[in-house]
Amino acid sequence: MIHELSFRIALAALLGLVAAGGNLLGGYFVVYREWPRRYLQYFLALGAGYMLSVAIVEVIPESVHGEGALIYVLVGFFIVHLFEHTIAPHFHFGEETHTEEMQHGHAQSAIFLGLAIHTFFDGVAIASGFLVSTWLGIVIFVAVFLHKLPEGFTVASVVMARSQSKRNAVRAAGLLGAATLAGVLLTSQLQAQLKYALPLSGGVTLYVAATDLLPEVNKEPNWRMALLVFVGVATMLILKLLFNL
Ligand SMILES: [Zn+2]
Ligand SMILES: [Zn+2]
Repeated sequence: MIHELSFRIALAALLGLVAAGGNLLGGYFVVYREWPRRYLQYFLALGAGYMLSVAIVEVIPESVHGEGALIYVLVGFFIVHLFEHTIAPHFHFGEETHTEEMQHGHAQSAIFLGLAIHTFFDGVAIASGFLVSTWLGIVIFVAVFLHKLPEGFTVASVVMARSQSKRNAVRAAGLLGAATLAGVLLTSQLQAQLKYALPLSGGVTLYVAATDLLPEVNKEPNWRMALLVFVGVATMLILKLLFNL
């Protein structure tokens, strides 16, 4: 039993590293490669449907065993709202093309702080999942991974819009990866706090899927993109039918 738990913790650390690599790669693509924007949108659409399903069908129901857990779901949801959209005056997922907005005061550092808190909770979510079961850990990891490239892409394009520094842009994406890994490692250390970590992650996951990813998908005047959201939902449900009835 002890053995099995340490295996899951090691797996969480490994997949946390893969997720962090996704941030870095997303940043690298926006700076150094002519990344086809369309692919990024596909990740967002698939990620939105899949991630929303994981939050509603898996993470939140698994959280409600704890006392007052739904309050923590609510807190997680609004922590991201506070940092991504209240303290940061201008933030949206995807490429930052509004150079004008980026020149205002602390716009760039506010966005970076918001995203760093969000990515820290991506890591908390992965580790919390693995502390419950391998199944929950893996479905949460996939939800996180699907939006890791767009995340790195977003932060790097924010830095590019402000300063045109390629090195700083990639560094910012790498730092988001580091925040993710920090979330994984801290949660693995503080296992007794799982009763807070899991519902908080549920709220964060719900917020990111429903208010960061989905609106970006809905901006596209393209029915294929809208349909891909359902593919994300179906993928989650099929995985559940196959592996976790
Ligand atoms: Zn913008
Ligand atoms: Zn994220």
